[in-house]
Amino acid sequence: MTLEQTLPICIAGTWRLGGGERYASCYPATGEPVAWLNAASLEDVEAAVQGAHLAFLHSGWAQRKPHERAAVLYRIAGLIRERAEELAQLQRQDNGKPINETRALVASAAGTFQFFAAACETLEETITPSRGDFVSMSVYEPMGVVAAITPWNSPIASEAQKVAPALAGGNAVVIKPAEITPLLALQLARICEDAGLPKGLVSVLPGKGSLLGDALTRHPLVKRVSFTGGTRTGKHIAHIAADKMMPVSLELGGKSPTIVLDDADLDHAVAGVLYGIFSSSGEACIAGSRLFVARALYERFMARLTAAAAQLRLGDPADERTQMGPLISAGHRASVERYVALGLAEGGRLRLGGERPSGGLYDQGYFYPPTILEGLGNHQQVCQEEIFGPVLVALPFDSEEDLLAQANDSLYALAAGIWSRDYKRAWALGRKLQAGTVWINTYKQFSISTPFGGWRDSGLGREKGRLGILQYMEQKSLYWGMNQQPLAWAGVEAGQ
Ligand code: NAD
Repeated sequence: MTLEQTLPICIAGTWRLGGGERYASCYPATGEPVAWLNAASLEDVEAAVQGAHLAFLHSGWAQRKPHERAAVLYRIAGLIRERAEELAQLQRQDNGKPINETRALVASAAGTFQFFAAACETLEETITPSRGDFVSMSVYEPMGVVAAITPWNSPIASEAQKVAPALAGGNAVVIKPAEITPLLALQLARICEDAGLPKGLVSVLPGKGSLLGDALTRHPLVKRVSFTGGTRTGKHIAHIAADKMMPVSLELGGKSPTIVLDDADLDHAVAGVLYGIFSSSGEACIAGSRLFVARALYERFMARLTAAAAQLRLGDPADERTQMGPLISAGHRASVERYVALGLAEGGRLRLGGERPSGGLYDQGYFYPPTILEGLGNHQQVCQEEIFGPVLVALPFDSEEDLLAQANDSLYALAAGIWSRDYKRAWALGRKLQAGTVWINTYKQFSISTPFGGWRDSGLGREKGRLGILQYMEQKSLYWGMNQQPLAWAGVEAGQ
């Protein structure tokens, strides 16, 4: 396939051109097109959902024994691993992340399919304690057509976290990837097909969320939406779901505090705080974007952190030494710049960064350097709103009470980090922090075996974990009568 050709998309088991407008996926490091494709149209949404519904009803997937479904998921994991380098390079181009990071995301996607294959074949249904002349059971059934709506920041890993448990649960899935990063979801659909998944069970709808994602969410045959993205979009989806009485899981934004207590191991804390905010160029929901440092330590810590941040290698995502690539788009970089300007207007000071780099590749792509703002209060807008870029706000604190009040004073509650040598102190603080995930003496570490999700405006529901598969299944109770006599109430005697 040459660049001039238009990529087909996968609708209801057929690879064909989308019915919407032609557009390009562009490489954020240069702004150059990587591939051209036609967005899906509303007719494509209808065809994908109807096709998924038919595949759910007639392909036999839902009826396959769990170990048989697991075998296909293991094959998907295997094919992702076989094609790992090709996928990682494609993702680098689609999204601009450094190659080492995209390799890790591809590996994580393979691990996710493997994990949910195992979860699928080991999921136990229960015989519940009987309270009558019956055997009572609790079992799980597939839901039907599930929509997986994903953002642009971690393609393939985000999709895998939804598609793997949904398929494991016996469902069909319609994926709506972010408009600007459609390529990996299409590759994943190809891999599912090559692994022997019945056709029609996975479709991919690239294009505008406000059009396609909205129609998908509203569709009566869509029985669940699993969404990862911004809080505003998540709330919109929640409203539609409420009208349909449809379960949703919403993985949304964050403004996560990382806390350096006065007894922290500074080497670990500096490395962890840097990684927490500046890896992925800060385009991470769990970015540790609000830094709280014990006042006694503040200057010493900030001097070390700033010096180390200034050394981070920002540049060509294809270079294995690169730590930070470009931001996803010109528009997103402009939004990050507006936040930095706002922080300065609010009385903040730049400790580092704050200006676009120039020269060479920097002039072509959407690069932005590690930036640290200080001198602000936690109530100010840049400390409260998600910037989704490499911008850290640093705030000193005086007491743990004062710290806790500020750290929890956010609409978001996705993650938090604590750096301390005292495990008892960290334990007590960790239990009081309001967040879906708390990292202690580490940050931004993930395991598919550990549930993940946010509180408050950071979301609803949990992904991952062995029981993550149950998000995509309906629970049913079965009662088996064991009476020797007819039910007494009717007064009917046996044999009459
Ligand atoms: P976004 O909300 O703009 O878009 C996410 C997805 O929703 C895209 O596929 C988009 O096309 C679709 N969409 C847009 N409008 C829609 C609508 N009206 N109905 C249905 N779907 C619609 O988010 P984004 O800019 O792509 O991603 C960045 C956001 O994602 C950040 O806020 C980040 O924190 C969040 N995020 C959260 C997690 C998490 O696990 N909590 C992980 C990654 C990203």
